[in-house]
Amino acid sequence: EGVDDRICAGGIERACNALLAAEEELTLMDKVVGDGDLGTALARGARSWLGEPQTGDARHQLRALAAVVRREVGGTSGPLYAAGLLRAAEAVGADGDWAAALQAASEGVQELGGAKAGDRTMVDALAPAATEATAGLGAAQAAARRGADATTSQVARRGRSSYLGDRVKGHPDPGAVAVTVWLDALSD
Ligand code: ADP
Ligand code: MG
Ligand code: MG
Repeated sequence: EGVDDRICAGGIERACNALLAAEEELTLMDKVVGDGDLGTALARGARSWLGEPQTGDARHQLRALAAVVRREVGGTSGPLYAAGLLRAAEAVGADGDWAAALQAASEGVQELGGAKAGDRTMVDALAPAATEATAGLGAAQAAARRGADATTSQVARRGRSSYLGDRVKGHPDPGAVAVTVWLDALSD
């Protein structure tokens, strides 16, 4: 197991712990603009991974994580994250190219979910983060934060929030905020 593999394992572990810490916050957000299950759904996947973390190279770990997510995470987020993680596993390569992995994940989520930037979904954080990723993790994190913040003034064109029209205005999209939670946790 090389240094890159340990970095990957540490990153996934930190992301999972951050999602556990954010469970209540994400649940409350999803109660306002959705059905209130996002925090629980992501925490369920995180708990499962932390209970049985997989070793091996980044590709293997991301594949294993995709399988855990597919099995444990419900709602809309589960299949979308599982698809994104599988794409990331294909793209990460032997040298642990996380920027390529993030870009592939973003494309996978957009292909499966059909959302584009501006539709007020997780894509509003994920896509700009992926675009900025070649400039470094800090740039990706800042882009995700800006994208998630911008959803506060947007009306949803995808997902449950799209049934609420203007009523979601003033509240951020929980899926976009969740992206900032795990992405911020990847550094260290
Ligand atoms: P639900 O409970 O509505 O099935 P989740 O609670 O798992 O969904 O996730 C809600 C989040 O999923 C939203 O805040 C949004 O960011 C994201 N989302 C919803 N629809 C899509 C889509 N078509 N593409 C990408 N992300 C989406
Ligand atoms: Mg929900
Ligand atoms: Mg739901």
